[in-house]
Amino acid sequence: KYAVGIDIGGTKTAIGLVDAGGAVLLKHSLPTDHTVSPAEMVDRIASAIRELTAKAGIDLAADVLGIGIGAPGPLNTRLGQIVEPPNMPGWWGFPVVESFRRHFPALDIAFENDATAAALAEKWQGAAKQADHFVFITISTGIGAGIYSHGRLLTGATGNAGDVGHFVIDPAAGTCVCGQRGCWEHIASGTAVARQASELLGRPVTSKEAFDLAASGTEPRITAWIDQVFRYIGIGCVTLINTLDPELLVIGGGVSQVGAPLFDAVKAYVARHALNPSGRQTPVVPAALHQDAGLIGAAALVHVAYK
Ligand code: ADP
Ligand code: ZN
Repeated sequence: KYAVGIDIGGTKTAIGLVDAGGAVLLKHSLPTDHTVSPAEMVDRIASAIRELTAKAGIDLAADVLGIGIGAPGPLNTRLGQIVEPPNMPGWWGFPVVESFRRHFPALDIAFENDATAAALAEKWQGAAKQADHFVFITISTGIGAGIYSHGRLLTGATGNAGDVGHFVIDPAAGTCVCGQRGCWEHIASGTAVARQASELLGRPVTSKEAFDLAASGTEPRITAWIDQVFRYIGIGCVTLINTLDPELLVIGGGVSQVGAPLFDAVKAYVARHALNPSGRQTPVVPAALHQDAGLIGAAALVHVAYK
């Protein structure tokens, strides 16, 4: 049997048919079109689902277990609504679950925030298969986390647990979209690195360029700044370790592609500063599922018992 996974993002929405082993049978990507209503986007996604199942020769009624939806927070999984994701203003308050139910009344629909779904994907088919306690951290446009504890997802009252991008790391830093100063994602996300490196060099610099420059050592100011960013990432990781006592941290998102320099620096920081001896030895590993993590995570909400 299959699950339909839907990963709604600020720029694109990925839709896929995922089997019980986590393999993506067929997938399709739609731009998240902000010139139309979310209801219209749901119509487009529903059409894409019908096309995909037809193409795959799959009967929606007989062969599909349900639909899993991952979306950016803040959301409200109890009400089945998107709440107020900063880069999706047109979707604020949108009843996403009810809208899909209108298209597919016979199917079960599961709904969680995207980082939580990605954590479940890493548990199901990725880097955390053996762990009963781990945190998945995504460092991308922002920073988010999915928390897996005591063998299940920790979702919180409304599905917003793990919004760690708004841990305050350095209150002397600038003001975040949330209004606090020095939030983790405001100083250590891909967006933050690009912004700060561009300021330092007086020209537009991407996050990848900034990390490459830092590694090459040709721009000492950038190297020093990136070392600081690695410390900021380490600080957030230590806070998570001290709070949740995980066996493992899994780091994904675009910035995790920096690879060894980032992982080595974070592991060294954790080894020095986590409080308990096993916490200091917490393995910090890259996410195993890359471009399809959101999709597989959304489908995992249907395939895997997680509550
Ligand atoms: P999204 O936030 O839409 O989920 P990504 O996970 O790809 O997308 O994250 C995008 C962020 O990651 C951007 O800030 C981008 O500059 C940064 N990024 C992407 N690839 C790399 C890379 N190889 N090295 C460093 N930063 C990267
Ligand atoms: Zn914030």
